Amino acid sequence: MLPKFRYLRPGSLDEAIGLLKDCNESTRILAGGTDLLIGMHEGVHAPARLIDIKGIAQLHTIGFTEDGILIIGACVTVNELIESDATTGPMQAIREAASKLATYQIRNRATVGGNLCNASPACDLGPALLVLDAQLRLVSKQGERLISLKDFFSGVKTTCCEVSEVVTEVVIPPSPGTVSAFLKQGRIRGHDLSVVNAAGAIGHDGDLKLALGAVGTTPLLIDGFDEVGVDDRQKVIDAVLRAIAPIDDVRGSGIYRKRMAEFMTGEILDLLKGRLKQGGS
Ligand SMILES: Cc1cc2nc3c(=O)[nH]c(=O)nc-3n(C[C@H](O)[C@H](O)[C@H](O)COP(=O)(O)OP(=O)(O)OC[C@H]3O[C@@H](n4cnc5c(N)ncnc54)[C@H](O)[C@@H]3O)c2cc1C
Repeated sequence: MLPKFRYLRPGSLDEAIGLLKDCNESTRILAGGTDLLIGMHEGVHAPARLIDIKGIAQLHTIGFTEDGILIIGACVTVNELIESDATTGPMQAIREAASKLATYQIRNRATVGGNLCNASPACDLGPALLVLDAQLRLVSKQGERLISLKDFFSGVKTTCCEVSEVVTEVVIPPSPGTVSAFLKQGRIRGHDLSVVNAAGAIGHDGDLKLALGAVGTTPLLIDGFDEVGVDDRQKVIDAVLRAIAPIDDVRGSGIYRKRMAEFMTGEILDLLKGRLKQGGS
C-alpha cells in the first residue's frame, strides 16, 4: 500500500516552481515514479505532496541548439534517449547506457532527470553523462543555476538539488570528433542494477575522460589523465584503482568490483581506440 499523499500536476514550469516555493522535504517531485513510488511502497519515503512534472511540455524535448549544444529535457524517457538521433556519434555513450537500463517497460516511464536526481551510485546514465561534461539546469522561484553533473552528486542518493528546485534539462557542450562508449556488468543475465559500470570519451584533441559507477558513493569522474592517453593502459588502470572505493553489498564484493573496474577500464579503452580508428562510431 502507498501512504496517502496529495497529487498535483502542474501544466507549466512556472506553476511547478510556484508549488515548490517554500516547501519542505514532505513535498517530492514525481517524474516516471520508477524509483520514488517503489521507495514509497517500501516505506522509505512518505511525502505528503507529490508534484507530477510530466505534464510540462518543455521538459520533454531533446535536440541540438544552433551552437551544437545538446539539450535533453529532464522528463525525456530512457526509451526516447535510445530512439533519438541526437544520441549517436559523439553521444553514443548515452544511447548505450540507456539501452542497458532496466526493461523496456521501465524505460518507457523512467526519465533522465529521475535517474540523476535519484543519485544511485550505480545509476547507468551518470557515468555516460559525466564523460560528456554534462551540466544540469536547476530552476526555482529564486532563479536558475547551471551546475556540472560532477558537482551535482553529493553522496549516496543525495544531490545538491534543493527541495524548491526542479532539474529542467541536461546540457551537453558540443564535442565534434569525440568518441564515447559505455559498458555495464550486471549481477544476472538480463535486467539488474549495475555491479559496476564504466563510460569513456576521447575528444578530438586526445583528451581522455573516464567515469565509473557502483565503485564509490557517487558515480565517479576519474581525474588525472592530463598527460595520459588511451595507449597508456596501465597508467589509466592505476588511476582508476586509486580513485575508487567499492563496498561489499548484495550485488558483489568490493574485491570483485575492483577487478571488474580494472577489466572494464581496459575494455572501454579498446572500444574507444576502435571507434577512433573508424573515425567515430
Ligand atoms: C525493476 C527496476 C529496474 C531498474 N533498473 C535500473 C537500471 O538498470 N539502471 C538504472 O540506472 N536504474 C534502474 N532503475 C531505477 C530507475 O528506473 C531509474 O533511476 C529511473 O531513471 C528513475 O527515473 P524516474 O523518472 O522514474 O524517477 P522518479 O522515481 O520519478 O524520481 C526519482 C527521484 O528523483 C526526483 N526527481 C525526478 N525528476 C526530478 C526533476 N526533474 N527535478 C528534481 N527532482 C526530480 C524525485 O523526487 C525522486 O526523488 C530500475 C528501477 C526498477 C523499478
